[in-house]
Amino acid sequence: MADEKPGLRSSTEVLTRGFDPRLSVGSARPPVFRSSTYVFSSPESAERAFDLVAGRVKAQPGEQPDLIYSRFNHPNAEIFESQIVPLEKGAHAALVFNSGMAAITTALFTFLRPGDTMLYTVPIYGGTQSFIEGFLDSWGVSGVAVEAGATSAIQEAIRTTPNLRVILIETPANPTLTMTDILSAAHASAEAGLARSGESPMLMVDNTLLGPTFQHPLERGAHLVLYSATKYLSGFSDLIGGVALASDPELIRKMRLKRNLFGNILQPDECWMLASRLPTVRLRMNRASKNAQRIAERLASHPKVRKIHYPSLFDDANQIRIRLEQCDFPGAMFSLELDGGKPAAFEFLRRLRLAYNAVSLGGVETLVCHPKTTTHSGFTEAQSATAGVTDGLVRVSVGIEDWRDLLADFEQALA
Ligand SMILES: *Cc1c(COP(=O)(O)O)cnc(C)c1O
Repeated sequence: MADEKPGLRSSTEVLTRGFDPRLSVGSARPPVFRSSTYVFSSPESAERAFDLVAGRVKAQPGEQPDLIYSRFNHPNAEIFESQIVPLEKGAHAALVFNSGMAAITTALFTFLRPGDTMLYTVPIYGGTQSFIEGFLDSWGVSGVAVEAGATSAIQEAIRTTPNLRVILIETPANPTLTMTDILSAAHASAEAGLARSGESPMLMVDNTLLGPTFQHPLERGAHLVLYSATKYLSGFSDLIGGVALASDPELIRKMRLKRNLFGNILQPDECWMLASRLPTVRLRMNRASKNAQRIAERLASHPKVRKIHYPSLFDDANQIRIRLEQCDFPGAMFSLELDGGKPAAFEFLRRLRLAYNAVSLGGVETLVCHPKTTTHSGFTEAQSATAGVTDGLVRVSVGIEDWRDLLADFEQALA
């Protein structure tokens, strides 16, 4: 869409690349291009564009092929994909999807074949878990669950699982924020590749909870980063979207061929909204993380609170190590375990005046939910026990309100 300006820092780049006002009658901000089809500059260009979109040939460096049809590509997707790249450290290419689940399922469909095995950390997002356990298995892919945060057990599983093709890590895990060490998984994946004298299993990280601001998986050896853009990237709880990013553009090219077939590209209006939110992702996430840290650290000593799950309050030595090595700041999610089980949790939710009782996360407004009966209600008792989803657990996604008002709201609801 426009020339890139190398050497700039990411908060400048996000505002200056990917869009050239001269191509849009001088408009300072990108317009929305709603066309479903695009006029070719020549029959030869049309032929070339079709060869490229079908994957029959590869683009030359710097080549700008004609647009064809909006299921394949459109200007607002290109603008967003160009502008998000500088925000994800180590990324060179991005691909936008119409949901986080679309990004995750397209990644798995692109890189797995029948007969392959994939490893995944649990607890993992419910939709991802259902896709692996209730769908991929019938397509001949076996999923092997490993406990989030269990560094040496995960390394061992990576070294010893036969036909291992994909490792999917979600860190921190929801709702207890247990962290999984990306770097040690990347080392084990590289070793497994050498031992098999073939390709390393591909390491994918769902970075929705701390990225792109606080956690940088590509710099720690991950091959692919996945997002629900519905959360912090969008930030206003008003759209559904997803993104995949990689250092190696070839991975994104392969996923793009699948996106062309599945038709799960994000629509122009939503791409335009999402692109306009990118310059403020860091501002919003920094504000929300500072709020969450102040509130969590004060509530930790509240007499009605049994435990707070929050990265700056970890007590396990391995978890503290991972947080310090892997994350810049603790983020804006915490969970509190109340004395008095489900009745106490429900009473707390009923009494909140500012925070909304809703699922989802990453918005500028504070959202609070009871995982056991909502987001994690599909868990068996055993799964709940492993994941730390207790009857008295309440999950909080802190927004950018004044933290003192939020703290007062939590304290009055606890009283
Ligand atoms: C919300 C979420 C998803 C799914 O994203 P959608 O945009 O709802 O499809 C995947 N992973 C994590 C960690 C999430 O929070």
